Amino acid sequence: MEKHLLDIVYYSTLVSQLDQDIVRLMQAAEKQLDMSYSPYSQFQVGAAILMENDEIFAGCNQENASYPLCLCAERVALYNAGSKYPNMPIQAMFLTVRNKKKKLVKPASPCGACRQVISEFADKSGKAFKIYINTFDSDQVIMFPNADSLLPFSFNKEFLS
Ligand SMILES: [Zn+2]
Repeated sequence: MEKHLLDIVYYSTLVSQLDQDIVRLMQAAEKQLDMSYSPYSQFQVGAAILMENDEIFAGCNQENASYPLCLCAERVALYNAGSKYPNMPIQAMFLTVRNKKKKLVKPASPCGACRQVISEFADKSGKAFKIYINTFDSDQVIMFPNADSLLPFSFNKEFLS
């Protein structure tokens, strides 16, 4: 058996080092924390997407008493954007989290399902985009340069045609 190694590239920085357009995107994601419907977990997630035309789409997590029906903020925001601009490239995505039960100092990364959807959005527009993650309680920011950094070996349309 042949061994293969895969390098995953990501960057860490501070909020104070971010470009102004990304700070604006972060603020849009933070605004979503207050709109999060998360009465069961108290875990609030805000997502914001900067489109190629500089428009921002945002979303927050939506919980439900029937737990499997919950939807993550990432997918709420992406489907919101996709319903207006089905194929427009995305410049960047910013995700932030806040846990009302405890202070979070480490950014939370997207779940596997959202990674798959992020990957599809990059594929369908043919353009990679950066994904930033942080937490409301910390200035630390992690940036993934593209969806492949978050989800190597993603399932995609190549397998279906
Ligand atoms: Zn998710």
